[in-house]
Amino acid sequence: MKFATKSIHIGEVPFENQHGDAIYPIHLSTTFAKTNLDDVEKGYVYSRSGNPTRDSLENKLASLENAKYGLAFSSGLAAETTIILSLLNKGDHILAFDDLYGGTKRLFTNVLKRFGIEVSYVDFRNIELIERSIKKNTKIIWIETPTNPLLKIADIKKIADISKTNNIISVVDNTFASPYFQNPLDLGANIVVHSITKYINGHSDVIGGALMLNDDNLYDKLKYHQNSVGSILSPFNSWLVMRGIKTLALRMERHEKNAFTISKYLETHPSVLKVYYPGLKSHPQHELAAKQMRGFGGMLSFEIKGGLDEARKFVENLSLFSLAESLGGVESLIEIPALMTHSSIPKEERIKTGITDSLIRVSIGIEDVEDLITDLEKGFKAVI
Ligand SMILES: *Cc1c(COP(=O)(O)O)cnc(C)c1O
Repeated sequence: MKFATKSIHIGEVPFENQHGDAIYPIHLSTTFAKTNLDDVEKGYVYSRSGNPTRDSLENKLASLENAKYGLAFSSGLAAETTIILSLLNKGDHILAFDDLYGGTKRLFTNVLKRFGIEVSYVDFRNIELIERSIKKNTKIIWIETPTNPLLKIADIKKIADISKTNNIISVVDNTFASPYFQNPLDLGANIVVHSITKYINGHSDVIGGALMLNDDNLYDKLKYHQNSVGSILSPFNSWLVMRGIKTLALRMERHEKNAFTISKYLETHPSVLKVYYPGLKSHPQHELAAKQMRGFGGMLSFEIKGGLDEARKFVENLSLFSLAESLGGVESLIEIPALMTHSSIPKEERIKTGITDSLIRVSIGIEDVEDLITDLEKGFKAVI
């Protein structure tokens, strides 16, 4: 089955339920009654351990990444924490891309340190540097590609190969690309992480996370910890995500089309210094992106001429683009990383990685692109 078909049909089983519902129902029950004591351990028992609606979503999620297994969590960070708790011990080391999502960095730096788990960050665009940075106690290589907000690309296949050679588990945060445009397991990665809060749900009304994988042994550990830690997605949110996924293919097509048109518009705009979008030929890793992705997604960043004042005036004078964090919803969002998503990074370090005061990050929605450009034009006029 192809992507758009799977996203609609997997996990729905319309004829196996009592009334023949055409879509899978929400099972809100926290516990499941048995008719005799021989069956108390059979089937569904308690909703934290297993819930029919969450299971249906997990099957759908797995299918999107061509995976054997899917697991759904209460947030992207809960999914990430479950990987750490399942697979690492005190004294272990994580090697991570230095341009990770801020919340992941906070978890790694401020929380894991207390438990004696060591993390080092290097630029994953440099393969040789990755090889040199592997330590005896490295257990996980943590990849995110494209990154936030500078859309840097890491070579998933090459890094997964290095991980395999060194007996290290490779994890890919695939949130920005979405499974429609990139499938890291097919390129050799061991575990895929998603914040389903973003493109997968797509409607800015659920916080959720997912893990997808093929390995039986890893799955048993993750499933055991999902129940032991209790970081599960609720039945109602599982149902909402099932509903969101049905239009994922259509949404991603439009996100990308709009993002490409807007990246071209910005690239030639006299008030713009630089545009970061992997779909542009001017992106230094455009070829790698084209090789490992089927499309370039709906996220882009650009540097406006001037400084923080100009960036501020620009974003505050838009009406269609909401000034907000997060991404991947049907509506367009805009933000200034230096003041919002990346404000916790010390200024010197922030500027060194390229996140200047005049950098603006945009999550391009699926509105009519002409309306979006008219709105951006209004922002530029307010700056001059
Ligand atoms: C949002 C996000 C996360 C965290 O997910 P939550 O659902 O907010 O917990 C992780 N990685 C990336 C790339 C994200 O954008």
